[in-house]
This record gives sequence, C-alpha cells and structure tokens, in this order.
Amino acid sequence: MLAKLVFLVGTLIRNKKIFSSLRFLRKTDKWDIKQLEKYQLKKCRELLNWAYNNSEFYREKFNEYHVTPDQLKTLADLKKFPVTEKSDLLNFNNDIQINKGFRKLFFSETSGSTGQPLVFYRDQEWDARHRSAIFRGYSWYNVKPWERNGYFWGYNIDAKKSRKIKLADFLVNRFRLFSYKEEDVLNFTNKLKKAAYLEGYSSMIYQVAKIVNQKGVPEKYNLKMIKGTSEKIFDKYHEEVRKAFGKKIINEYGAAEAGIIAFECPAGNMHITMENVIVEEENGEAIITNLLSKSFPIVRYKLGDYIKVNKEKKCSCGREHSIIEAVMGRIGKSIKGKKDNYPSLVFYYVFKNLALNEKLTLNYQAHQDKVGEILVYVEKKLTGKEKMLVKKEFEKYLQHDVKVELQDGHQIERRDGKMKDFVSNLD
Ligand SMILES: [Zn+2]
Repeated sequence: MLAKLVFLVGTLIRNKKIFSSLRFLRKTDKWDIKQLEKYQLKKCRELLNWAYNNSEFYREKFNEYHVTPDQLKTLADLKKFPVTEKSDLLNFNNDIQINKGFRKLFFSETSGSTGQPLVFYRDQEWDARHRSAIFRGYSWYNVKPWERNGYFWGYNIDAKKSRKIKLADFLVNRFRLFSYKEEDVLNFTNKLKKAAYLEGYSSMIYQVAKIVNQKGVPEKYNLKMIKGTSEKIFDKYHEEVRKAFGKKIINEYGAAEAGIIAFECPAGNMHITMENVIVEEENGEAIITNLLSKSFPIVRYKLGDYIKVNKEKKCSCGREHSIIEAVMGRIGKSIKGKKDNYPSLVFYYVFKNLALNEKLTLNYQAHQDKVGEILVYVEKKLTGKEKMLVKKEFEKYLQHDVKVELQDGHQIERRDGKMKDFVSNLD
C-alpha cells in the first residue's frame, strides 16, 4: 500500500517519536482511573518543576502566589497554583517559550478570533503525544491515519501556501474542498465515495450535507468516521449529516496550545485525554494543564470555554477516562441589557431547553449591536407558535431587560475561521 508507506516514511522523517507515543496511548487506553490519576500527578509535578526552573514567567508568578512545585501532593493541590490567561501567553510569549535543551521544535500558530495570533513551539515529545492522541481516537473507529480522507478547512488559501498544502495533503492521503461552488462540491463528494473518513469544521460538513441532500441523489459512502473540530457541533447538524453521509459527527475537542482535550468514543461520550491534559472546571470554565507542554508550559490555562465535566459517569465502551458532558460555548463577550449583563451561556440554555422540552432543535447565531437588544438568526422557518416558544424561553433568562428580535429562515453566516454563535459588536 503506497499510502501507508508514504505516511510511515513521512512520520519517520517528521517525528518518529509518534510510534512509541501511540503504543503508549494504546496501552493506557485500558488503564483504570486510579492508574490514570497517578500518572497525571507524576507528570504534573514534573511539569511544574520544569516550568518553575526554566521559565521566568512561571517562576515569578509562582513566587508571587507563594507556591512552589513541591506543594503539589495531590491533584487537588493544583488549585493552589495561579491560572494563566490567553493574554499571558501573548504578552509574555518570550518568557514562557523554552528553546534550550530541545533538539527539534515544531512551529505552531493559532489564529484566535480576535486579531493577534499566538505563536509557540512544541518540543518533539509534545508533538508526538498530540498527534498520537488523535490517531488513538481514529483507532476507536478502525480508521488508519493513512487512509483516504476528505477535509473541510479554510478554503481561502493564498497561492504561496497552496503548494505546501498540496504536499502535506499528499503525505496524509487527503483531499479538500476549496469552495461551495456546485461543481467543486460534486467533485469532492465524488472522491468521498472512496474515502474512509471525513473531517473539518462542523458547520462546513453541515453545509455540504445540505447540498448533497438537496440534490436528492442517493450516493454510497463508506465513511468510518466523520470528525468535527474547532467549532460547536449543533444537534441540528446530526440529522442532516447522517442523512447525507450515513454517520453523525463525532467531536474532537482541543486547541493547539491545550492539546487534544477529549475525543468522542463510539458510545458517544467525550473522554478526556487524561494522559496529556488535566481538565479542571471552575465556575463552569475550562482550565487546562497540558502535561506535555515542556517547551511552552501551559499550566492552569483558562481556555475560554464553558464546559461540564462528569467524573461519575461510566461509559459502556469500558474506558475509565473522565467524561466531558458538554462544551457549552466560548466565554467571549456578555449580553448587555439595559440594567444588567448576562453571560453568553444564556444561548446554550435557551436552545438546549427548546430541544429538550419542545423537540425544537435549531441552528442559530445571535448578534448584538445595541445595548438592550439582540438579533437572533434562526436557520429554520418557524411557525407562529414556535416563535412564541423561542421568545418565551429567552424571557426566562433575560426578562424584559433585553429585547429579542427573531429572524427565522435566515442562512447562518460563516466567514473565514470559526463560526461563532454570538457576535457582539459592543465594547
Ligand atoms: Zn466511551
């Protein structure tokens, strides 16, 4: 198999540590929760010591909080250590980055929704573990990383980058969609018939599924996995995608700096990659410690997402890795009422209640341009009664402090980058 050979040689050249890393993760996949937590504590101590001794930023910060790494006796002690904000990673970038002592470093960049990109370098071990975590997830679906795959990702690619991307795609046997033009979509879905898996922004997977369904031509796909990344996966997406491609979208939750935080198993639960990250939930906010992040330590990092962790839940797949029950959206800006402010989490609850109690699953996007007023776009055409239900649900949370204007039958916009469920143009 040529594809397999190309992949293996490419991996050998790029980072051969991936092979041993993946073997390790396949083994720990079967560990019980005690073993996993014991391992986490050991790795966390190692990371804190390392950061304290090698990064000026963390040394000063720990000193300021009067904590030293030896105070970490249990995982619960991690709370004694200060949190790190995204702005810290940007403003103190040089004091956090550690280059000394690493043979090979891998460039990494995240665009971020607000301007300034975060640039950092991963060491070899970190890069290997990051990739292996993805590949282990694939293995849960019987997907081999060299199998043919379709990819939805930012299609506005400039010519300079396009050659580099073509080579990268070749190495991992991938083809991608560059536009929504009908012939491009048809060309893509044609290739998809021979692909093993599909991945990308979930809103794009959904868009293409809609086009496929509108064509109404039954096609045969043999996809083993459809993976959504980077964006909230709306419940509404699943029925359309299942109808078009025969599978629901599974969730890979993570971020470049935080690593692969969780991967959805075939039983439908998002298991935390406990070998790589510690996930804390504080006031609903995700705080991530990336246990592999030696070259750019990520300690108690406020990722900016609302999440819900469930440590008690047992999964029928047998894995004991803790479960993230829900990723409820970006923390971002709050909704500004005439009297009060409200967290953007309101949208999550409003639409979750509608789905649960009224069987009304909706795609939405909310905009705020004026204090005391929001405009909510809903993709579906609503009946009068449904409109009432939506308004009533908003009222529960916002009373009459925020006027809710509803526009149904409205295409949800997605520009470049991630699709957001709340766009506020207020300061
Ligand atoms: Zn499971």
